[in-house]
Parts: sequence; structure tokens; C-alpha cells
Amino acid sequence: MAKILVIDDSRLISHVAKTILTKRGHEVILAQDGLAGMQAAKSECPDLILLDLIMPVMDGYQVCQNLKDEDSTKEIPVIMLTSKAEPADKVKGLELGALDYVVKPFDEGELIARVNIQLRLKQLYKALQEKNRQLRELANRDGLTGLYNHRYFHEQLSKDFLRARRYHESLSCILLDIDYFKKFNDTYGHQTGDIVLSTLGQVIRDSIRDSDFAARYGGEEFALVLYHADRPTAVNVAERLRQMVEHCEVRDKDHVLHVTISLGVATFPHEQISNPKQIVECADKALYKAKENGRNRVEYFR
Ligand code: GH3
Ligand code: MG
Ligand code: MG
Repeated sequence: MAKILVIDDSRLISHVAKTILTKRGHEVILAQDGLAGMQAAKSECPDLILLDLIMPVMDGYQVCQNLKDEDSTKEIPVIMLTSKAEPADKVKGLELGALDYVVKPFDEGELIARVNIQLRLKQLYKALQEKNRQLRELANRDGLTGLYNHRYFHEQLSKDFLRARRYHESLSCILLDIDYFKKFNDTYGHQTGDIVLSTLGQVIRDSIRDSDFAARYGGEEFALVLYHADRPTAVNVAERLRQMVEHCEVRDKDHVLHVTISLGVATFPHEQISNPKQIVECADKALYKAKENGRNRVEYFR
């Protein structure tokens, strides 16, 4: 069952179309002229439009053009209703973006068949768009932790950085790395190591705001970008995260385990940071310092 808008100035044609389509379970909205049709297309978001070509004030060609120019209506499939069998009229309508035409007075079976084809194509198109969206999302994610991956991190950081620079807003980057993780893997096995990584991913996900984003930067290294976060704010977030991880219990079937992380923070604006690459480098230097100064701690780039 679909919502179909019929735009036709002839009450007889509208009535016949409505009867035929309603019988098949569709909801039918009628508009008597082009202007009312445009308004209904915008407010009702129909699945399909049947559009008469010859109408007073605004003809079908103009309506078709307007529908295609408007973001909210340009995806709605349009079938022209034409009383003339002139090829030139059909061609003009098709060129303006109509997908098909039915010649009036129409045959019930033909109208239904053409309507069904367009509804089916619309469904398939919608399913395809959704699949594409899912694939894009999957391509941006790290399989183990569900966080964004390295590639997406750089893509998004670049956008956020340019925005922060243009609007003179602050932006912080936190890089964090698990302490002595090689030894952990050697002791408990790689699989338990993987449980740690996905648990850490969950802790990070739960701890950030909607405007921030987190990624798995490398093997056991993660990166966070905090928009609108100055240095004290970012250091606070990092410290809170450090404590959460320290107190977090990771369970495999035999053990209750703990890991710690070291974190490096860098904040823009900073005289040594003028591009996205530099903010990561500076956060990495701070992370190195956190390791050097004993691990399980936060340092920031001064
Ligand atoms: P540090 O405190 O200096 O960071 O020491 P570390 O042992 O954590 O650092 P190092 O870089 O020497 O070792 C990182 C280890 O992380 C090596 C590797 O076994 C482990 N690792 C990297 N990716 C994965 C992964 O996907 N799964 C598991 N289980 N381990 C990983
Ligand atoms: Mg490490
Ligand atoms: Mg490392």
C-alpha cells in the first residue's frame, strides 16, 4: 500500500484514477492544479505522483521541473498522464524527469501495472540506499572494537580541525595506549588480549559526548577527538578515562584482569599546531612522555 498523489484538473480523470488505485489498497490524494499539487507533494511526501500535463496556471512540465528542483520532492517518482499521444510531449516530460507516462483515457490494467513498476523500483532504490549506508558505516569501523578506524579518524579529524580553525574554536586530541600489552598477551594469550581491546572500546564509547569521536588508531592505541574542548577539559576527560580503565575488570573464563593506559593530550589553538597532522604528532609526544614518566598517567603537550 502506497500514498499516491494525483495532480489533474479533470475531476473525472482524478475520480477514475482514485477509484482504481483505492481498490488496490493505495491511499490517494487529489490536487486540482499544479500549485496545489506542488504543495501536496511537499507536505504529504507521497510515494508516487501521477501528473497531468495540460493544466491551467501551472502546467505539468512546470510542476515536474519544480518537483525535481526541490530537495524534498526530487526523489518522488512521477508518471505523466497525457491525453495526447504526441511523441514530442512524452519526450519533453521524460526529459524533465518523469519516469513513465500513461495515455488517457487509461486502461485500468495498464495504469496499475505502471504504478506497480514505479513503486517496486522505489522500494529497491530505498533498500539499495540503506545497504550503501550500512556498507559505508562498516567501512569506517574497526571490526574488533566497533570504534571508527584509522582512515576514518584522519578524515574526520581533518574536517573538525578545519572547522575549529575557521571558527576559532578549541579542539583536543587524546592518544592513548595500553601499558605493557605485549607482556599481557604473552601471559594470557592473544584472545584474552582481544577481549581487553573490545572492553576498552566499550569504555571509551560510553565515556565520550556526542560531539566527540573515538577511533582505534592502531593495534592497542586509541585516539579521541574532542570538539570545543580546551586543555583543562581534555586533560580531565583523559584522567577520568585513565581511572575508569584502571578500575575496569576484564574477565576471561579463568581470570579477572586489569590493564592500565597512558594518555597524551594536545590542544588547538597552540603555536606549534597549525594542521591536523601536527595535533596528532603533539598528542603522540605527550603520550611518549606519559610512558617515560612511569605509565598509567596523563601528560599534555606544553
Ligand atoms: P608500552 O607500555 O610501552 O606501550 O608497552 P607495550 O607492550 O604495550 O607496547 P608494544 O608496542 O611493545 O606492544 C604492543 C602489543 O600490542 C604488541 C601486540 O601483541 C599487541 N597488539 C596489537 N594489536 C593487537 C590486537 O589486535 N590484539 C591483541 N590481542 N594484541 C594486539
Ligand atoms: Mg602499549
Ligand atoms: Mg603501542
